[in-house]
Amino acid sequence: MDDSPVDPVTYRDILKTTRRRRKYFFGTLLVYIPALWITYNISPTNRAMGTVFGIWVLFLIIFTFQAALSKCPRCGNYFHLHGMTLLFLRKCLHCQLHINADKIS
Ligand SMILES: [Zn+2]
Repeated sequence: MDDSPVDPVTYRDILKTTRRRRKYFFGTLLVYIPALWITYNISPTNRAMGTVFGIWVLFLIIFTFQAALSKCPRCGNYFHLHGMTLLFLRKCLHCQLHINADKIS
């Protein structure tokens, strides 16, 4: 128990949070085209399109940072960030812990 930095409950909670942040990030990416298409059909002006785009970029920045700064519960490093490299893989970039490791075992 002493050599494990976090208990199983915290471990599961951290992975759950990381999965939720990934969902928000990918959801924001997927919402881009529909959001602009809907805005275009409601009000096809540059101002409306620009406003929606600005809001989308703001959400993208927030969720990218949230996901990028998620820590790995096993090694304590950033899950998706290795040096300057940001990769949204399903495994920790440092210790290869799978994003669903708490579900598999
Ligand atoms: Zn790790």
